[in-house]
Amino acid sequence: MQRVQDKVVVVTGGVLGIGRATSLLLASEGAKVAVTDIKDEEGRKIVDEITERSGIAEFWHLDTSKEDEVSKVFADIARTFGKIDVLVNNAGISGVDKPMHEITAEEWSAVMEVNVKGVFFCAKHAIPYMQQVGGGSIINMSSIYGLVGAGDIPPYHASKGAVRIMSKNDALFYAKQNIRVNSIHPGFIWTPLVEELASRSAEGVEAFRRQLDRLHPIGHVGEPDDIAYGVLYLASEESKFVTGSELVIDGGYTSQ
Ligand code: NAP
Repeated sequence: MQRVQDKVVVVTGGVLGIGRATSLLLASEGAKVAVTDIKDEEGRKIVDEITERSGIAEFWHLDTSKEDEVSKVFADIARTFGKIDVLVNNAGISGVDKPMHEITAEEWSAVMEVNVKGVFFCAKHAIPYMQQVGGGSIINMSSIYGLVGAGDIPPYHASKGAVRIMSKNDALFYAKQNIRVNSIHPGFIWTPLVEELASRSAEGVEAFRRQLDRLHPIGHVGEPDDIAYGVLYLASEESKFVTGSELVIDGGYTSQ
């Protein structure tokens, strides 16, 4: 018996970085994975990769900030796989890196649309399917920036703090219905999102990475699989008594 055998899992932003590692790992542990993302070509490639390894997955184009799309895609996923057991609310963007007093209303909203409203829309439209099968697990990707400040990217901090407390509140709302809701708080993980931050930095990619390494007491940044294993635990029945919790996977960053 594999750890998430026959569970139907929706992964948002499932094509790159943490989402990609999660899609691959959960499929290898027996889940039927609905990989969703705004990157269609890469989405189809990852599904081929999973099926070549005898896993089960399908790709859906999904922009989580569009409620109509979320509603239609989730209905189609439930029709295709018969149910939805697990939602991994992973899609997120870093947004502008400016001091608070220079940020425009549009720049602020752009981050909130994906990082907060997208999480809301996906939870809203997944919960009815979870209610139909008597339970489920929602895993919301927050960040160390949802726990502590770093003095940069203000809208991102605000969005990840919102995701942390939304998770706890939903955990209380749905506990009696056996729908668990938890947040994950990664430290810096070397993904295209962080590489993009690195490429925009004045010091260059390698120096930026070394600087990030030093921020983590364990001595280096994390890998996408470090987070995917946390998702696997929260998606599986091994975590059946875990709800409203914060799974911090950060190489010691927030222990300082
Ligand atoms: P990533 O490498 O940028 O991958 C995220 C994926 O989501 C990309 O394919 C991206 O497409 C897609 N996406 C963006 N906006 C979307 C939308 N509206 N709807 C659907 N998909 C969308 O990111 P990552 O580093 O793996 O991060 C994944 C999650 O972990 C995010 O929520 C992030 O905030 C969080 N996190 C990451 C780190 C880290 O150090 N990497 C640390 C803490 C928390 P595009 O590339 O086209 O935008």
